[in-house]
Amino acid sequence: MTAANPHPLYPHLFAPLDLGFCTLPNRVLMGSMHTGLEDHARDFPKLAAYFAERAAGGVGLIVTGGFSPNIAGWLKPFGGTLGWSWQARKHRQVTDAVHAHGSRICLQILHAGRYGYHPLQVAPSRIKSPINPFTPRALSARGVERQIQAFVDSARLARDAGYDGVEVMGSEGYLLNQFTAPRTNGRDDAFGGDATRRMRFAVEIVRRIREACGPDFILIYRLSMIDLVDGGLAWDEVVAQARAVEAAGATLVNTGIGWHEARVPTISTSVPRGAFSGITARLKPEVALPLVTTNRINMPTVAERILAAGDADMVSMARPLLADPQWVAKARDARTDEINTCIACNQACLDHVFENKRASCLVNPRACAETELNYAPTREPWRVAVVGAGPAGLACATIAAERGHQVTLFDAASAIGGQFNLAKRIPGKEEFHETLRYFARRIEQTGVELRLDTRADAAALSGFDHIVLATGITPRVIDLPGADHPKVVGYRDVLDGSVAVGAKVAIIGAGGIGFDVAEFLVHEGPSPALDPARWHAEWGVDLAYGDNRGGLAPARPEPPAREIWLLQRSPGKLGGKLGKTTGWIHRATLKAKRVHMLGGVEYLGVDERGLRIRRDGEEQLLAVDHVVVCAGQEPFKPLVEQLGGFNVQVHVIGGADVAAELDAKRAIDQGSRLAAAL
Ligand code: FAD
Ligand code: NAP
Ligand code: SF4
Repeated sequence: MTAANPHPLYPHLFAPLDLGFCTLPNRVLMGSMHTGLEDHARDFPKLAAYFAERAAGGVGLIVTGGFSPNIAGWLKPFGGTLGWSWQARKHRQVTDAVHAHGSRICLQILHAGRYGYHPLQVAPSRIKSPINPFTPRALSARGVERQIQAFVDSARLARDAGYDGVEVMGSEGYLLNQFTAPRTNGRDDAFGGDATRRMRFAVEIVRRIREACGPDFILIYRLSMIDLVDGGLAWDEVVAQARAVEAAGATLVNTGIGWHEARVPTISTSVPRGAFSGITARLKPEVALPLVTTNRINMPTVAERILAAGDADMVSMARPLLADPQWVAKARDARTDEINTCIACNQACLDHVFENKRASCLVNPRACAETELNYAPTREPWRVAVVGAGPAGLACATIAAERGHQVTLFDAASAIGGQFNLAKRIPGKEEFHETLRYFARRIEQTGVELRLDTRADAAALSGFDHIVLATGITPRVIDLPGADHPKVVGYRDVLDGSVAVGAKVAIIGAGGIGFDVAEFLVHEGPSPALDPARWHAEWGVDLAYGDNRGGLAPARPEPPAREIWLLQRSPGKLGGKLGKTTGWIHRATLKAKRVHMLGGVEYLGVDERGLRIRRDGEEQLLAVDHVVVCAGQEPFKPLVEQLGGFNVQVHVIGGADVAAELDAKRAIDQGSRLAAAL
């Protein structure tokens, strides 16, 4: 694409970007994301394959997950480091693989500072982070100099290893950000005190890397444009820092949003798309170098809108490229409806990283498993029946058909999607629509024969070589006096609108679905996830900064639509099993909506007056209009018995296989792996 010949759909997204010494083919930067493959030399071939697929998919510039420049900067013991020449050699596999596809790649240098999960961590001052049990050692003046030098050495090693540049991580509350913010910098030497001295550490790093690596080396500085913590930067300090790193030799400034300890969600699915690009837009007129914006940009229309408005020069996407390595190529070739959209669930990427597991993707189990899970054409095409078009059945049917099997997909409902059709109604889960759009298109493309409104029985399933039962679940029925009272309703009826509930509602069960039903019932009207201004007000985000450091304002949650009691039998905190990186968001949302969250509840019965419970030995009456049962699920697979006499291979996947703690991640993964093996 050129200025004279722009892309017909996304002219700004596919406009080349001239960096002076090289030209990027488009405005997509694959943002840094830790996958777990960075930490061991043995995983580098997998890391190379992972990046190679994204490079082949046309991404303009890639940034690796964070590598520490030294041991003090480790995120965790023995985490990925680039500090010695013997470590640089293995990186050649990665850079060669990316260059073979004509793309470019920068190494991110990330010094965790007080976020390091180990006792050797250092920081500008001895101030412990609220999310880490270790207290950092305050750096001496010589120690500061050693850290700066470590960054420069790491950048030089990156250049030697074939990287096209580096990204210096200056945001998210890591070491550089700990220097720049008064919250964590109590020094009174040349690296602490006023804003100029606080940012000196970061600026020196940029200046010396530029000096050491020469003029034709991409140097991205990730700048925290809104810290979202008390004691963060003031807006004029953000501007001053951007100007200083520009003068020191940065090529691009990337946007960082929020510290890890911030109590404002920044990337979860309930954050509106592009909710933070306004902050990059505010910086645009202050500097001349190109700016990259980020967070919750997952579809080409969103990216194009931001770029066309002039809010930024590039968009950064990390998780969307995990979800679909062909994202750029599909947008470029006007195949937008084929994009497997990141739904921002964090379930297989960030949650895995926090659990010390390799990252993957809920909607794309091949992510980070490119060398292991492949969908090669079959040599033996079978006639395959898949019963159930929920996530498990959809993944299995479409991959099996892609491999060359002749697949018929049955669903008793009149639309594909199974429980995703309920999930998509939850405020903040609108992205689930995209997964259904993606699978609908995949069914067309792969030639799956789809039979909706068809409850498959044994007769309908004769003549197939393989039968896959992906028939899902049935909600657990609870044994409770008054369970048949009209006040008692199931979550499916509430979510699909069959039952309208009253102003006071008790929810039995506080698992994923109990929480979702509570969110559904406290909201009324359009979802705040679709309206950035309302969402900012609810969470206290002030892109205009006002007088507040860190871009925080008092949160102004909208009043709840109903009074809700969310109950569980087990004692302790509710939502303990929700995702590591998202559970706190669900709890905070419900707290802001004044939901009564009660653990250690014994259910005594339901009658005209409401729900009677016992808690701490005391009986209470919750005078509610309705009681919604969200007490878990059981596998639904009556066909297993009916097919007992068939001489055919029967496979059971998804909720039909295991309902306890089943989620869509497991359902899609299981469906995909079965299809790969058929
Ligand atoms: P299902 O989705 O239950 O699909 C089974 C399908 O089989 C149905 O469409 C049914 O009509 C069909 N069927 C059954 N019997 C027959 C038959 N004989 N013939 C034809 N068709 C038949 N998971 C997450 O990971 N993250 C979330 O954020 C999340 N949120 C959720 C929110 C809500 C409100 C709900 C209800 C669920 C949520 N889940 C979430 C769970 C997730 O949706 C399920 O884990 C997933 O849908 C299970 O997929 P499945 O394919 O096994 O079964
Ligand atoms: P769940 O997570 O297993 O929760 C079931 C809840 O019901 C628990 O709170 C349980 O707690 C309670 N319960 C169990 N048996 C009961 C009984 N006999 N009487 C009363 N209460 C009982 O199941 P779910 O909420 O139905 O969710 C189903 C699946 O969908 C889960 O795998 C979940 O992960 C997934 N999902 C995920 C998300 C997400 O955001 N990731 C959202 C929705 C759903 P006590 O026993 O302590 O009362
Ligand atoms: Fe996106 Fe969820 Fe996949 Fe992570 S696991 S990349 S958030 S869809």
